[in-house]
Amino acid sequence: MSSQRDTFLVIGGSGFLGRHIVEALVARGDPVAVFDIVQRYHDTPFYSGDISDQAQVSDALRKSGASCIIHTASPTAGLQDPALYWKVNVDGTRAVIAAAQENRIPKLVYTSSAGVVFNGQDLIDVDERIPLPEKPLDAYNESKAKAEELVIAANGVDGVLTVALRPAGIFGPGDRQVVPGFAKVLKEGRSHFQIGDNTNLFDWTYVGNVAYAHILAADKLVPQPPSTPEHVTEAFETALPT
Ligand code: NAD
Repeated sequence: MSSQRDTFLVIGGSGFLGRHIVEALVARGDPVAVFDIVQRYHDTPFYSGDISDQAQVSDALRKSGASCIIHTASPTAGLQDPALYWKVNVDGTRAVIAAAQENRIPKLVYTSSAGVVFNGQDLIDVDERIPLPEKPLDAYNESKAKAEELVIAANGVDGVLTVALRPAGIFGPGDRQVVPGFAKVLKEGRSHFQIGDNTNLFDWTYVGNVAYAHILAADKLVPQPPSTPEHVTEAFETALPT
């Protein structure tokens, strides 16, 4: 854990995952504010804004006094709107990075998605070393991959340390996409189709665990102390009793 407590700005903090991150931070006593285009809760400081507007993000960073950004904002998956995905996920994430650099925010944690490496084929026992597919699955995943690339490339630039996490499917209280989507399919009687031979597997993670992973990532995102110069190490070793 970092020696100094952070003040957090959770971007997308009105959303499913963002809200769980906010609640977990509040539970451990950390100062936290939310930046989002919609306000759903009224128990933490709230900054209304769109991440594609750098000035709005910068303003919220200054007013909240944040030292760590957790950026979970995105349009939901599955929309037929590539331009919106590009505007929010790519241009918006670029604006978040620029605002972080402008305000010398030490830490930026970004929620990417496991979908960035999925091209429709089975993925078994893979980890983050697997390359991105040549052809992205769809506009949502393409924009998430590009945003992730921007976040990783920004690591260490202008005093900002960055990390990106790739959750797969997230489930739990407050979910507005997955389980409601399943229920809608059932309700509309659209359940007579089967893909594969009924042995398909998919990774799911409980939302509380995904939230916890973000907080652990934030806690671990601390600058390494400068390495000890060689001559000091040598002098120390010489002074050691044999
Ligand atoms: P969500 O829709 O519940 O929350 C997203 C939040 O972002 C919303 O509150 C929304 O208002 C906000 N937002 C959208 N556009 C914005 C903008 N331009 N400016 C500011 N705020 C904006 O979604 P979620 O399920 O909580 O997903 C959170 C993150 O996790 C997303 O980045 C998503 O890509 C990623 N993710 C989700 C899943 C999943 O199964 N839900 C899986 C993998 C990755």
